[in-house]
Amino acid sequence: MTELISSPERTREILQAHGFTFKKSLGQNFLTNPGLLQDMVAAADLSAADQVIEIGPGIGALTELLAQKAGKVVALEIDQRLIPILADTLQAYPNVVVKNADILKVDLPALLAAEFDVTKPIKVLANLPYYITTPILLKLVQAQVDLAQIIVMMQYEVAERIVATPGHKAYGSLTLAIAMNMQAQIVTKVPKSAFIPQPKVDSAIVSLTPLTTEIIPKAEKAQFNRFIQIVFKQRRKRLLNNLLSFFGKTPAIKATMTAGITSLGVTVDVRAEALSLGQLEALFRFILKNQY
Ligand code: SAM
Repeated sequence: MTELISSPERTREILQAHGFTFKKSLGQNFLTNPGLLQDMVAAADLSAADQVIEIGPGIGALTELLAQKAGKVVALEIDQRLIPILADTLQAYPNVVVKNADILKVDLPALLAAEFDVTKPIKVLANLPYYITTPILLKLVQAQVDLAQIIVMMQYEVAERIVATPGHKAYGSLTLAIAMNMQAQIVTKVPKSAFIPQPKVDSAIVSLTPLTTEIIPKAEKAQFNRFIQIVFKQRRKRLLNNLLSFFGKTPAIKATMTAGITSLGVTVDVRAEALSLGQLEALFRFILKNQY
């Protein structure tokens, strides 16, 4: 039996055979630890009914394992040099479609409608390119598409921001942008040594699943996201000051914003980073009710 693509020997062999050189600017750190990839796939609990989008397949290390479990895999790879390599390494898997595409430019609803049966579960799995972790995550959770699960490898520092709780220094706008859409969990921490070339930082596998009850109604999400940007604009500043910088500094506005903040059961000198999603939502509603 041929060895898995992700085994260090086979990876080296494929890279050599195709004369492939890594592009740092594309976040190319390939996983050469089959056990870890199997953990990622196990966390997604895949069956033939599942359809998977993979972002950045590289030489197909994760793609191969996904193809063995899922009904269909659509893998989006920006680096044109990898397309013929993937055609070679994944030739045994007719249920894989590789597209030369930039995830940040892809029209996700159109892709899903064209490639998948949208009545069946669609999951995203990826070892993300770290230079664009945040924009990819925001695109996935904010796209108006139903994703049954997102399991992604990312730098540990970003994983910490995603699962942070109020008062923690990692807590902020990213935490809330995710929390208003998904429930997040770190599956496992991953050492630098699992990759070639080794990145400078440790990593983590994160699982995101849709909330069972919606916190912020769909129609209000964009507006609430803008509100979050306003309150965290200068995170070391007091919440009141961030609100006044945006809404205006008249005595009437100051009185309304002060009343809104104290109605949350906190003192007026509080910073946004101390407030939970529920408290920020209550403040958002208070400000809307007062027609700002
Ligand atoms: N999946 C492989 C693995 O686990 O070994 C490779 C992961 S590597 C961290 C990230 C991959 O994303 C690379 O193959 C890179 O070329 C690709 N990539 C970078 N930017 C991308 C983008 N904007 N859209 C799609 N793929 C991208």
